[in-house]
Amino acid sequence: MAENAKDKILLVDDEPFNLGIYSEIFSDLGYEVFTASNSHETFEILKKNEPDLLLLDIILHNELGLDILKKIKTDNQHPYMYIVMITGAFTSSQQQAAALEQGADGYIVRPIDDRELIARVEAFMRHKRTLDSLRKSESRLRKIIARNPDAILVVDTDGKISFANPSAEDMFKLTIDELLSRVFGYPVIQGEHTEINIVRQDEEERVGEMRTIDIDWNDKETFLISIRDITHHKQIEEELKKALVKSKESDKLKSAFLANMSHEIRTPMNGVLGFTRFLKKPNLPVEKQQKYISIIEQSGLRMLNLINDIIDISKIESGNMEVNYSNINIHEMFASLFNFFEPQAKKKKNELLYVTSLPDNKAYVFSDNEKITAIFTNLIKNAVKYTTNGKIEFGYELKENEFEFYVKDTGIGIPQDRLDAIFERFVQADLKIVQPYEGAGLGLSISKAYVEILKGEIRVESQENKGSNFYFTIPVKGKKVVDKVVAREKKIDSIEKLSEITVLVADDDETANIYLEEILEGKCKKVLHARNGKQAVDMVHKEKDINLILMDIKMPVMDGYTATRMIKQYNQDVIIIAQTAYAMSGDKEKAFKAGCNGYITKPINQNELLLIMSQLL
Ligand code: ADP
Repeated sequence: MAENAKDKILLVDDEPFNLGIYSEIFSDLGYEVFTASNSHETFEILKKNEPDLLLLDIILHNELGLDILKKIKTDNQHPYMYIVMITGAFTSSQQQAAALEQGADGYIVRPIDDRELIARVEAFMRHKRTLDSLRKSESRLRKIIARNPDAILVVDTDGKISFANPSAEDMFKLTIDELLSRVFGYPVIQGEHTEINIVRQDEEERVGEMRTIDIDWNDKETFLISIRDITHHKQIEEELKKALVKSKESDKLKSAFLANMSHEIRTPMNGVLGFTRFLKKPNLPVEKQQKYISIIEQSGLRMLNLINDIIDISKIESGNMEVNYSNINIHEMFASLFNFFEPQAKKKKNELLYVTSLPDNKAYVFSDNEKITAIFTNLIKNAVKYTTNGKIEFGYELKENEFEFYVKDTGIGIPQDRLDAIFERFVQADLKIVQPYEGAGLGLSISKAYVEILKGEIRVESQENKGSNFYFTIPVKGKKVVDKVVAREKKIDSIEKLSEITVLVADDDETANIYLEEILEGKCKKVLHARNGKQAVDMVHKEKDINLILMDIKMPVMDGYTATRMIKQYNQDVIIIAQTAYAMSGDKEKAFKAGCNGYITKPINQNELLLIMSQLL
């Protein structure tokens, strides 16, 4: 018997003598003993305690123990308490049978010697303890089954459900009773793990993994089935599968992109290098010279376009894309697009036309001219690129508050499964590494970003070998967000100031030095050169009349940022303009932070440089 959980005995007898003796005997045996001499005291004790055994005298003063027995059984408050009648008067077997029939668990006839009494009570208690521990273990098992998150069911060979735990209720959204009245509808295969679509009362779609084992249940062949809800795992699995496909695809794309980029850079590079060599030939006729120079220029522009696209992507990415709103006449824009593309379209035997439906004075949209032109340029350029002997049409339709612009062609079209992907960066519809069309796969992603910045949407309809129709919407009155004046549009008014200044060009690149010298020669008083940041710092120390420095950023020995910081420490007056090939977002801020007064990106446009210089003087 556990020390701090003694078994409890309640002794009921109207003879104080009996109560005294029995109390002593059972206390000595280690029981916790309660005593009562009538029904009132008995029920008072029962209210507060849960005795394991009640030893109940049959004849009490003016009362019968049998009535107490009856009441306890009717109340059913103590279903697990053993009740043993004890009497010296009602000893016949009829009387004993009647008491047992009323629910007594035992019957002891007096006189009885102590040893027998103890032996009998201990025998009852052994029985009771066994039952108690069975009950406890059953309740533990029930809890385990009830709390198990898997649905557990017992199903016979006819599919009849004879047991279901609460998780099964939850899984099928049916009550236990509803489940028990149903036939289990899934094929039951012993020992197999099967995936099932859980058919639920609320029609939500879920997936389960079902496991079945054979069990013997009430001597019948039966199956114990457990079902685990694996919907979440399936979703993750699906996502992983998709991610795998995507990553394999992006691997392919990366290779295609690299091959493509290399092609995109090498082709114009070939032009530049090849025709530069030709230019060196002695006695070259002037027409040829001009032709080669124009090829070199075209090749340079093509490379610059690629770089500009990459820079645009970086600006879009970092949210640094400015929007300049103005009233745009769509017809004027169309006319200039038409003039620009017509020769290219003709070359590929394409008919190019545009359609307008509004009168000229009504064809206005308030948006960003540069961006809409860039979107059209990309779309028409593609249409020309992917169409031969066909027709290309662009135009618009005025819908409620927006223009829907379109560019339609009768070219090669785009496979259905690539329609979404083409708007992604560096993606081309054709996944083959060697493909006949030039392009880095950036145009459409930039166009899409522009359309979205302007609060519109872009979409495509296309059929292979039939053609493609691109549509994009632009609100008639886009919100005015920022209105920045572009430097290029300003007039150069203070160019005279330049003739009075000494300029230091700090650049390690020989070509850049020659180029800047060429621009500044004759316009400035003097042009000096430094090949790295340190030389620039030293020269500003020595030559007190340096007014302006064109500071390259990436230089050996000391970079332009450091040189600027050092120079500005002792000379606040000198104007420093950063000139850099890093046109990525954030570089401008870095240059200003270092102390630069202005910023210009390479390749340097002559007018732009002179404008910035004169503005800062
Ligand atoms: P790219 O520089 O390769 O033209 P884009 O982003 O402009 O890059 O276009 C992505 C891809 O979409 C192209 O490589 C091409 O496969 C497909 N595409 C775009 N426009 C058309 C079109 N008008 N007809 C057929 N395919 C097109």
